[in-house]
Amino acid sequence: MKEFDLIELIQQKCSSRTSGTLLGIGDDAAILQPDCNKQLVVSTDTLVANVHFKAKDKPASIGHKSLAVNLSDMAAMGARPKWVLLNLTLPELDTKWINGFIKGFAALLSEHQVQLVGGDTTQGPLSITVTAMGETSRAITRNHAQVDDLIVVSGELGSAAFALHHPRKSKACNKQLHQPSPRFDIADQVKSYATAMIDVSDGLLADLGHICQASEVAAVIELTQVPVNPVVKQAAEWQRYVLAGGDDYQLCFTIGMDDEERLPDDCHIIGQIISGKGLTVLNQHQPIAVDFAGFEHFNHD
Ligand code: ADP
Ligand code: MG
Repeated sequence: MKEFDLIELIQQKCSSRTSGTLLGIGDDAAILQPDCNKQLVVSTDTLVANVHFKAKDKPASIGHKSLAVNLSDMAAMGARPKWVLLNLTLPELDTKWINGFIKGFAALLSEHQVQLVGGDTTQGPLSITVTAMGETSRAITRNHAQVDDLIVVSGELGSAAFALHHPRKSKACNKQLHQPSPRFDIADQVKSYATAMIDVSDGLLADLGHICQASEVAAVIELTQVPVNPVVKQAAEWQRYVLAGGDDYQLCFTIGMDDEERLPDDCHIIGQIISGKGLTVLNQHQPIAVDFAGFEHFNHD
């Protein structure tokens, strides 16, 4: 296989199409026509082998995850993804690996009706960058959380971090780590009234911290209200996984107190926005000291 065989294979297997694509893969650039009544929302994320995933992970889950984390950013903005670009840096053209990768990537493209419209292919240490483009009529940013708003999370937290440290204990947690599902089911239902939203990629405290910082408010959360898979609670380090473990790709968002009744299933109120700075974590109403932060690159001694 050569570079252009690979591009042809990608083009053939990634067959999902969306409206507004005037020109996809094959020219020097793609031509896209966003809906004129909507805002175009763009984000990009890189996954590096042995930093974001293990080089030995199944290629289909690497394909799935590299797209899922990018689509999750679209969900967190209240946007619907339409187009993606895929930049692949591969150590070699290994047909079996490539077929697996494309299978995972293409399945998620078609699940969310997103079109791959271009990218780049280079040789080097394994790394994948996806750029996602989507549309929204109302983007939900991080900076509009208000004092008294309720803090909500979707799904369960800590499962991905648990699976990373205990890979043989729970299928559900392994799935959360290797094949996360961007929560469009939740985002679509709350985007008309959420005041701020973020996806939990670096850990709850870090990501809720971003909302607080951007909105110039503080937060208090009750650990016992955070939904956690019972398997995760069996681990000695479970509080760390729940509060600081990244990679769950659930949504954390704020809503006005009057909107509590409108929350969809699988959403849990875990705390409230208050005035001031910083985060307070309560465990059965008692403040607990938390000395762990979320994942940050360049933060290793
Ligand atoms: P150029 O030399 O003009 O950058 P390339 O040879 O890199 O062109 O790419 C040719 C076409 O294939 C372009 O339309 C590009 O977007 C697309 N392409 C290249 N690599 C990928 C990839 N990994 N995934 C999707 N499309 C790709
Ligand atoms: Mg190129």
